[in-house]
Amino acid sequence: MIAINEKGYYGDFGGAYIPEMLHPNVEELRQHYVQIMQEDSFQKEFQQLLKDYVGRPSPLYLAKSLSEHYQTTIYLKREDLNHTGAHKINNTIGQILMAKRLGKTRIIAETGAGQHGVATATVCALMGIQCIVYMGAVDIERQAPNVSRMRMLGAEVRPAVSGSQTLKDATNEAIRDWINNPVDTHYIIGSVVGPHPYPDMVARFQSVISEEMKWQLEEHTGKANPDMIVACVGGGSNAAGAFYHYLNEKDVRLVAVEAAGLGINSGESAATSVLGTEGVIHGSRTLLMQTSDGQIVEPYSISAGLDYPGIGPLHAHLIKSGRAEAVSITDDDALEAAFFLSRKEGIIPALETAHAFSALDKISFQRDDVIVICLSGRGDKDLNTYIKHLDRFSGIGKIS
Ligand SMILES: *Cc1c(COP(=O)(O)O)cnc(C)c1O
Repeated sequence: MIAINEKGYYGDFGGAYIPEMLHPNVEELRQHYVQIMQEDSFQKEFQQLLKDYVGRPSPLYLAKSLSEHYQTTIYLKREDLNHTGAHKINNTIGQILMAKRLGKTRIIAETGAGQHGVATATVCALMGIQCIVYMGAVDIERQAPNVSRMRMLGAEVRPAVSGSQTLKDATNEAIRDWINNPVDTHYIIGSVVGPHPYPDMVARFQSVISEEMKWQLEEHTGKANPDMIVACVGGGSNAAGAFYHYLNEKDVRLVAVEAAGLGINSGESAATSVLGTEGVIHGSRTLLMQTSDGQIVEPYSISAGLDYPGIGPLHAHLIKSGRAEAVSITDDDALEAAFFLSRKEGIIPALETAHAFSALDKISFQRDDVIVICLSGRGDKDLNTYIKHLDRFSGIGKIS
């Protein structure tokens, strides 16, 4: 059985490595999260919002041209069609309802590219709750449209000006805020990372993805189980959601796709499962990229959502135990896959998601396999990057 134990471990990975001062906040959440999520009134409100606000169930789409090209059967789980354009809203809806049940009146979040910040600002606007998003000063410069979106939605964006002024510095600022505001504030973490119970709570909120996949596949193919599920992994929340209800179904291959940046051995990469070693980052024991004396190595990927030096403890466990296969994809391969999917299926994916599609060129499968790819988000936010590469990749050889 693959399940979290009562201390928050998946095998060797997970737990809650937090400063003493954060203990009351995390402990309050740990004691109540499962019970609150199981209440009828919680489930009713959560399901209703997923349906009417997010637009679920997201379609499971048979990608005919892609299937023909790869000589197999490929379905796309269309998280790109959710409100705000990705899977992240599934988690922020769940956590805002959790915060309300815990009596919290103030929300904080960290964001890198701004996608989680926008998803958090959105649900805070929906519920009329104060929202503060910490973001590295460098990222505020780089991600101006998302900063404007958050402000338009009523959130306050606070710059993190220490260190490299990016995601990990924003995370440190958010933790500091939470320590200073333990009573009224809930911290919405954006992936299956952080101290227990966050990885498990976020995985449960995202598990709606595989819950829907089961009945949708049954409808399409007569069988609830595919042969393989492929998803990209930054922290790992869309992959956790897509894998969740198949974790103990041994006949389903699970493929986790990471960013290799400029190449695994280039020094500019985020391929944690290959380069990572065991250590503690952001409150949990997992695989992370670090030097021999424990300094975190700055990660790199063209896609901001995969540019993270660790992976969630669930994925560290799945990969180390052999339950999941890890594949690493470079910037260039991801770009090529994004242009290819756009031409073949009329779907422009997020750069993160494009990594998952590129994995089709790296893994083996059979003609009669059924493969599901989690199409985690749409590519509108990445248009500036795509425009830079338009000449290089339109008319590439693969596209006949
Ligand atoms: C944020 C993001 C990711 C990476 O986050 P996970 O927690 O690994 O899912 C992947 N795809 C899209 C579209 C994103 O916005």
